[in-house]
Amino acid sequence: QPAVELDAVSRTYTRGEPVYALDDVSLTLARGSYTAVMGPSGSGKSTLLNLVGCLDTPTAGTVSVAGEDVTALSAGQRARVRGQEVGFVFQTFNLMPRLTAEENAALPLVFQGAARAERTERARDLLDRVGLGDRTDHRPSELSGGQRQRVAIARALVTDPAIVLADEPTGNVDTETGERIMALLDDLHAAGNTILLVTHQRSIADRAERIVRLRDGEIEGIDAVDPTGAA
Ligand code: ADP
Ligand code: ADP
Repeated sequence: QPAVELDAVSRTYTRGEPVYALDDVSLTLARGSYTAVMGPSGSGKSTLLNLVGCLDTPTAGTVSVAGEDVTALSAGQRARVRGQEVGFVFQTFNLMPRLTAEENAALPLVFQGAARAERTERARDLLDRVGLGDRTDHRPSELSGGQRQRVAIARALVTDPAIVLADEPTGNVDTETGERIMALLDDLHAAGNTILLVTHQRSIADRAERIVRLRDGEIEGIDAVDPTGAA
């Protein structure tokens, strides 16, 4: 059973002229696969991520996550699937300003009811992996933009989600931080996580196994990436 399956999914917005943000899209993400999504602004990339991440529901078609048809679930049940299966790396960091890096990274575990010792251990482990092991007690205002992005990534991964969704994770950071984030996604892929990454940069998309090209809410094509980098 695939990690994610979209079957004939449309998402329309009907304010004034109806807009097909996604138009009859079918897409399967095999377990452990690494997929990049590219397309011009307005082509439906964020809409696709929000549907897979159970933040939104389609106006037609079905979305299945970890074998569950999430379109048939209540909002509360969808939130449960999201919390158990999905790690969402947003473009904006949405960190809590009064909490330290460690407390921010541990927040999803608080919602899961994990014990304090486990929360601390997991949050520190993830902050180490994103290169912020020496910043655990800093608040967001004491961190650079790239460091905040890495705290947000640590928070997204602290529950060890099977499916990792990343919306322009390197969009607002310097080259070195961007490379560190991409290396972390490579590690997650190697560890068997399913990854869906939105990016405008071809060089970033080439880190994935395949590239889905969106245009006007439709899949224009799916390209396999040559793992030797020869393409
Ligand atoms: P969102 O995902 O929030 O809908 P967009 O995908 O439209 O946002 O854009 C994300 C970021 O990428 C923005 O900073 C935007 O200015 C920039 N951007 C949008 N389209 C392009 C493009 N074709 N090439 C390069 N950068 C783009
Ligand atoms: P992308 O991420 O590729 O920039 P989006 O998924 O954000 O594209 O948007 C796809 C289309 O849906 C765009 O035409 C956008 O204007 C429209 N859209 C997205 N969100 C809304 C909304 N909340 N209300 C109305 N139209 C929307």
